Amino acid sequence: LDIRGNSYTDTERELDKRLRPLQFDDFSGQKQIVENLEIFVKAALLRGEALDHVLLHGPPGLGKTTLSNIIANELGVGIKITSGPVLDKPGDLAGLLTNLEENDVLFIDEIHRLSPVVEEYLYSAMEDFRIDIMIDKGPSARSVQIELNSFTLIGATTRSGLLTSPLRARFGINSHLEYYDGDILTQIVKRSAGILNVEISDEAAHEIAFRSRGTPRIVNSLLRRVRDFAQVKGNGTIDMDITRHALSALNIDKYGLDEMDNRILKAIINKFKGGPVGITTIATAVGEDAGTIEEVYEPFLIKEGFIKRTPRGREVTDLAYKHLGRVRYGDSPS
Ligand code: ADP
Repeated sequence: LDIRGNSYTDTERELDKRLRPLQFDDFSGQKQIVENLEIFVKAALLRGEALDHVLLHGPPGLGKTTLSNIIANELGVGIKITSGPVLDKPGDLAGLLTNLEENDVLFIDEIHRLSPVVEEYLYSAMEDFRIDIMIDKGPSARSVQIELNSFTLIGATTRSGLLTSPLRARFGINSHLEYYDGDILTQIVKRSAGILNVEISDEAAHEIAFRSRGTPRIVNSLLRRVRDFAQVKGNGTIDMDITRHALSALNIDKYGLDEMDNRILKAIINKFKGGPVGITTIATAVGEDAGTIEEVYEPFLIKEGFIKRTPRGREVTDLAYKHLGRVRYGDSPS
């Protein structure tokens, strides 16, 4: 299993569902975003209106899908879930929209990957709760206007930089999810362990949390792996010994960095003497898209103090050298 939780077996998916918070109260972290959303949801309920459209952006696994489900739940409405690449024809979108009940939520994941035609249709749907569709072809072709129930569109994206400005402008609520602090991830580990009915020591929860790249999805996935070790190699309880053993057997980086994080740091050190170097140059060196590095990888590396931004580009810090066991160019080894 991919530690980022990208490929699942059925039981993994089932477990994942059980660990998913269903209410604002169960959702840890992202305090400001959650507090604001709670107010907007309450206000919409008071007025009996659909909640304004919501755009959630941020790296994968931070809770965008979870929050969308919570919003629908707290509004007491239904939710239909789809994603940008799946909606390739306007007809697909029209089918979904016409099936929404009053004030329902439509969740579109990877909304930056909508085709331009589908996006055009979405504009009038979002603005006037109305779509024009063409029926028939050739001389008898005509456009028919369909009135929709009012609804809330929740769009999620890891790459907000790729959203067109007309689409972005149609979201009344716009929230950026940040990586989680270790302490909050520790709470999430403990909550998840409780749901999985496994005993865990405070130290072990802390250790798993701090090696999960600031990401709840990774925390839950690591917890499940460590639990496997505890059941097979230990006595079922997750303590520090079994956690250390499992994390080392799983090859989990001390700081929770993943392969791409380490490739980026190594490239800056090995090929560019530690920087400064521009993001597109780094992207070419590691074979990843520059926007993805900027929006998905770099924010964590900056947050944890491995990279800093300078006017002349990105530079790695002493921590990055230390982590990779290197000596900074120009320094003499002590
Ligand atoms: P995204 O849509 O941003 O990729 P998800 O909403 O699918 O992320 O979250 C991944 C998993 O992490 C979920 O299954 C959920 O169990 C867990 N999770 C995410 N955010 C939180 C949170 N704030 N508190 C507890 N668990 C969370």
